[in-house]
Amino acid sequence: MFEKVLIANRGEIALRILRACKELGIATVAVHSTADSNAMHVRLADESVCIGPPPARDSYLNIPSLLAACEITGADAVHPGYGFLSENARFAEILDAHGITFIGPTAEHIRVMGDKIAAKQTVARLGVPVVPGSDGAVETDKEAYRIAREIGYPVLVKAAAGGGGRGMKVARTEDELLSAMSTARAEASAAFGDDSLYMEKYLGKPRHIEVQVFGDGRGNAVHLGERDCSLQRRHQKVWEEAPSPGLNDADRKRIGATVATAMADLGYRGAGTVEFLYEDGEFYFIEMNTRLQVEHPVTEMITGIDLVHEQIRVASGAPLSFTQEDITFLGHAIECRVNAENPVTFAPSPGRINYYHPPGGLGVRVDSAVYQGYAIPPYYDSLIGKLIVHGKSRNECLMRLRRALSEYVIDGIQTTIPLFSRLVTNGDIVDGRYDIHWLEGYMAARDGE
Ligand code: ADP
Repeated sequence: MFEKVLIANRGEIALRILRACKELGIATVAVHSTADSNAMHVRLADESVCIGPPPARDSYLNIPSLLAACEITGADAVHPGYGFLSENARFAEILDAHGITFIGPTAEHIRVMGDKIAAKQTVARLGVPVVPGSDGAVETDKEAYRIAREIGYPVLVKAAAGGGGRGMKVARTEDELLSAMSTARAEASAAFGDDSLYMEKYLGKPRHIEVQVFGDGRGNAVHLGERDCSLQRRHQKVWEEAPSPGLNDADRKRIGATVATAMADLGYRGAGTVEFLYEDGEFYFIEMNTRLQVEHPVTEMITGIDLVHEQIRVASGAPLSFTQEDITFLGHAIECRVNAENPVTFAPSPGRINYYHPPGGLGVRVDSAVYQGYAIPPYYDSLIGKLIVHGKSRNECLMRLRRALSEYVIDGIQTTIPLFSRLVTNGDIVDGRYDIHWLEGYMAARDGE
């Protein structure tokens, strides 16, 4: 087992990892930018190292600084969390070359899954169903017209290097195709420095269903059920739940088994999430994330398995601590992403938290790194906390969530809590009747009120 883990992240996820390390008796090193000197992860870690100025590219994304921090502190492993360097294959290789373990999959698997075209081709070969679309990159206008006609409009143009919903454009008719291609290309080039595009059938009313997987890198892999992340705004998840209210047991078992077999055949190591769109009883792979997800707690709540413990164990060379048969699912869990944003316009709302009171009680978990008096810096993402609620049934979970939201006080900044308070009493949400477009439709309807 590792002696000292350096956590190459900030915010709630840095704290989440720190807690897992403490439980396993592993010493922790926090890193931080100058804007984060007062952050909770810095206060709670055994040691901390300042790695640079506020902009992420100069601190949390600065590989030489992180490497120096490992050497100064003698850390023998690095947990990257999510975002920042978590899906950077080069970072994993560099750590490896310095004899430091990257807590995650192999650089090769990160690279393959980071290229959405290669990822789709790889999983398709392993028997995973994919969205109908181009076989590879779409290079010319002529090719774009031909492929779009073959798959049928509407089509979605996507960036091979995509992430966070960027570089993605819908063309509803042939007239819109070229402008969708050029907008997506410009966006992809600006955001990722890679303008390769591919094309998919645009699905009209799917749910976003993702499967949590774990592999030991030696040909054993299990799945830990699905999460429904259909409630999204601009392709960003807002509310996640497990199990999905829109999935029957037969489809659930089928996709879990398909994904676990594919990951075993791939020799995948560590935690991963295989994302699908689900429409009319069919699953369509869209991408795989080779890291811990923001929404991993909903899976932890219904399985009782600590996913970060398991990531650390597997990275240290231990076999998986459970088999597929050992994994049982109990009750229902929902996560609300509490962002420092205006709940209607979603404009960022950084600033000082004057008063902070998180909810508690049976079945309520708050993963957050903020505290009373804390000033949210304007440099990073706006996620300030995750409220995760568990109940014996979905109904009990919703009742508990209503109660927990009514207790949650964050004063001094705007947050998305009022949005969740409305959602949790909405008829469609209560009935579990929603797809990936539901939330934007709901917000647009409210605009007109
Ligand atoms: P990113 O990596 O940028 O998040 P994804 O491929 O994971 O991109 O897609 C993000 C979201 O975009 C999905 O959850 C879904 O809402 C939407 N989306 C992606 N592909 C399709 C598609 N073929 N049809 C309809 N919506 C899609």
